[in-house]
Amino acid sequence: MPLAPQRADVPVTIDESKCIDGCTLCVDMCPLDSLAIHHDSGKAYMHVDECWYCGPCAARCPTGAVTVNMPYLLR
Ligand code: SF4
Ligand code: SF4
Repeated sequence: MPLAPQRADVPVTIDESKCIDGCTLCVDMCPLDSLAIHHDSGKAYMHVDECWYCGPCAARCPTGAVTVNMPYLLR
């Protein structure tokens, strides 16, 4: 039996080790305000599980910390 497509837990994941303290570019780019800076870690994270998969958050991140996990059916 074929395996079901893998589903990521959240639409956008941030590699905290690459996220620069004080940067807010991805947060500023998101038209849905789905990203925010965590008040403890100072790193970006997805605080609302809503996403258009439009991509500017990942495109504008200077360190490539943002990954947009495209749903299988949209690829
Ligand atoms: S654009 Fe990249 S470095 Fe800047 S806050 Fe977002 S994840 Fe962090
Ligand atoms: S892909 Fe678009 S909607 Fe989704 S988090 Fe990034 S900027 Fe926001």
